[in-house]
Amino acid sequence: MSDCLFCKIIAGEIPSNKIYEDEDVFAFHDIEAQAPHHFLVIPKQHIATLNEADDAVLLGKLSLTASKIAKDLGFAEDGYRVVMNCNNDGGQAVYHIHLHCLAGRQLQWPPG
Ligand code: 5GP
Ligand code: ZN
Repeated sequence: MSDCLFCKIIAGEIPSNKIYEDEDVFAFHDIEAQAPHHFLVIPKQHIATLNEADDAVLLGKLSLTASKIAKDLGFAEDGYRVVMNCNNDGGQAVYHIHLHCLAGRQLQWPPG
């Protein structure tokens, strides 16, 4: 989608601190980290919100990519949180689905 921030990041039109990429997904560090580790995993296909998603394999791959990166970066055993915000009440700001992965400190529950 031409006016989507994350589609532009995937295309390299907007720079990002990339962690991982394959034919389906792209992962990069969040520009405004909320924890010592905070990265995003997104599908290369533009999907605006979880409400529009219907590809179970692709959604599963977002989670498995997060766990692979957590292992590669060395904090999988200490732990981490993955979360996807949906629409206004969920706090979604960018309308291209993304899995947040946060780690590196004891995270509070419930979130605000
Ligand atoms: P949401 O609130 O939609 O779940 O999360 C959007 C996330 O995207 C936020 O954590 C925000 O910091 C991050 N973000 C927004 N713009 C950019 C950007 O240009 N580059 C990167 N790396 N992250 C961004
Ligand atoms: Zn997009």
